[in-house]
This record gives sequence, structure tokens and C-alpha cells, in this order.
Amino acid sequence: MQEEYGPATALLVVDVQNDFADPAGGLAVGGGEEILPVLDEEIAAARAAGAFVAYTQDWHPPATPHFAKDGGAWPVHCVGGTWGAELHPGLVAGAGPAVRKGTNGEDGYSGFTMRDPVSGATVPTELAGLLRSRGIQRIVVGGLATDYCVRSTVLDAIALGYETHVLVEGVRAVDLAPGDGERALAEMERAGARLVRRPAGAAAADGPP
Ligand SMILES: [Zn+2]
Repeated sequence: MQEEYGPATALLVVDVQNDFADPAGGLAVGGGEEILPVLDEEIAAARAAGAFVAYTQDWHPPATPHFAKDGGAWPVHCVGGTWGAELHPGLVAGAGPAVRKGTNGEDGYSGFTMRDPVSGATVPTELAGLLRSRGIQRIVVGGLATDYCVRSTVLDAIALGYETHVLVEGVRAVDLAPGDGERALAEMERAGARLVRRPAGAAAADGPP
């Protein structure tokens, strides 16, 4: 285990939902299922140490300017209440609350904030309050996707003053343009995030046979 967890640490599992993590999902991220064993191991370690675990969920209305069919950028994904919006069944869920974002038609990239796609106004989610009420000082982030929701969540966490770690083997990128994921990791590191890599030979990094 690379990360050390304690009561002042929160593990944020970002958008590990069927539409992103399952190959049949509406916006499947390449290699999305590969991060499941990595994150499950982190969730288990976090729970054992009394750390706080929270899951974010992209949770869109059926029509939103976030979707290409309504003038936005993305195929339909994570419509609230559908299979695609559910947490991937391969994830150890139920260890902490789920924080929904994008619920009012915002893009909802960050777990902390939602941005109205029309007005550009930023609205906070309940995540910051959950962290504050528990005295969290350090945040560990994994999930999907590196170049969108992980990136935005990490940059917001840093801006809020948290020591922020990114699980490099626990994230995957959309990579609309080749290298987007690597550029996002570099940007997060420049902003102050620590990129945490598992030691060579760690069991979960080996993947299925
Ligand atoms: Zn979305």
C-alpha cells in the first residue's frame, strides 16, 4: 500500500460509474475497469484506518447542454436513475456517502463545484462541508476521468487548501486528444498535487491474467 490513511484523510472515488467504467457504457473510458482492483484496495485500506471515503457521481438530467444532442460536447451519459449512473458493481461501495454533481444541468466536472453551462455560475456541492465537518486535511483521489472530473476535483481540492494526492494507477483518461491524460497529471502536479505511484510489483497493478 502506497498511501497511509488516517482519520484526517479522505479518499475521493471520482465517477466510477457504469457509463465511464464499463466498456458498454455511454462514455466508456479506455481501461476504466483496470482501476477497480486498485481502488478497492485503497478503499479497504482507508476504511481500516478510519479514513473518510466519499464517492462522486455524475448525475445528469435526460436533457442538458452538457450533452452533444443538446448542443454540448458529450454523448449521453450518467442520466440520474439509469444503469449508467450507478457505481460500477466491481467497486467496494457503501463505505461512504455519494456526492452527486451535474444534477441541475451543470457540466459538473468537479466533485466540489458545479458550473452552470449557460451562465457559468459556480455552485458548491455538499462535499466541502462533509470534509470540513470531519476535520479532513489530506485528500487522496482516484477514478474517472483523469483529464476531466479527476482533474477538476483535484484542482479544486488544492485551491481549498488540502494536501492532495492522485493515485496514478487509480485513474484513466478520456484522451480526446492523445496525451490529454498525461498533460492533466502534469498540470495537477504543477498546481501542487502529489502523484502517487504504486511500488513496482504491487498485486493489483498486475491486472487480470
Ligand atoms: Zn457528465
